[in-house]
Amino acid sequence: MAIVSIDQNSGFCFGVTRAITKAEQELRAGELSCLGDIVHNGQECARLEQMGLQTIDYDDLRTLHHAKVLLRAHGEPPSTYWIARQRGIEIVDATCPVVKKLQDRIRTCYEAHKNDSPLPPQIVIYGKPGHAEVVGLQGQTHDTAIVIESIEQLGKIDFRRPVYIFSQTTKSVEGFQALVEAIRHRVAQSGSAVAVEAHDTICRNVANRVAKIQEFARSNDIVVFVGGAKSSNARVLYNHCLEANPRTVFISSPEELEKMTDLQSEACHPRTRIGVCGATSTPQWLMEKVKNKIESWNTVLKQ
Ligand code: SF4
Repeated sequence: MAIVSIDQNSGFCFGVTRAITKAEQELRAGELSCLGDIVHNGQECARLEQMGLQTIDYDDLRTLHHAKVLLRAHGEPPSTYWIARQRGIEIVDATCPVVKKLQDRIRTCYEAHKNDSPLPPQIVIYGKPGHAEVVGLQGQTHDTAIVIESIEQLGKIDFRRPVYIFSQTTKSVEGFQALVEAIRHRVAQSGSAVAVEAHDTICRNVANRVAKIQEFARSNDIVVFVGGAKSSNARVLYNHCLEANPRTVFISSPEELEKMTDLQSEACHPRTRIGVCGATSTPQWLMEKVKNKIESWNTVLKQ
């Protein structure tokens, strides 16, 4: 019979836990809408929707009056608060304190340098274009910040002008360091002596998980990574698991295990170690469901 275990370091980070706790408290008292998916995990969104949470988009926000709207851990640009004030909407602000601090740093940097001359500076955000957190960060600079996801996109930067670099909280430390190095190299190549100021603003709740999740992945024969398809943190941590253990599979729900017949037969081998882990947006109850599902194969095949 396979030995199935859940990674003790996987699951909600404190920012996501805080947002979900706020939503649950508000839902016990009355109606609540959330601007965008409260967490990048479809299963957890469905659970909260069953409790009454309504997920809305920006178009809905512009038509609401005097409602209560939760802003999720990713944070929002200043324009969202402005719309809410115009519509008499009560905000339940669940922006993660780590993201809030990053927004403040970017806004302070922008305000301090926006009028610098003769070379106007550029604020660069290492992040995923269009990601909710990145939209909130760009908003601190009146959408003037340049968003770069990879070294291939460096052409967006003018290397003769000063560069202030920040990172989306869930990006990888290695990726950020490589990007900063590449920018410094290109500035030196251009012969200019402008400032390149790098601010590593990656959340350590995510970065510190990498070594631990890789250790967990190596200690198992097979790894089942549970994460939402839209979660960038899930993608990052899954890739780290895969690097540590090539026998890692990505699923978003226990039902996806049904078609994994190879995994089913492996699960019935005695002493096969199967590890279940997930992202900062993966609920504990979902990893437990996955574990129970795998263990149920053992039971069925024993009968
Ligand atoms: S990953 Fe970090 S920054 Fe993002 S919500 Fe969690 S604690 Fe906050």
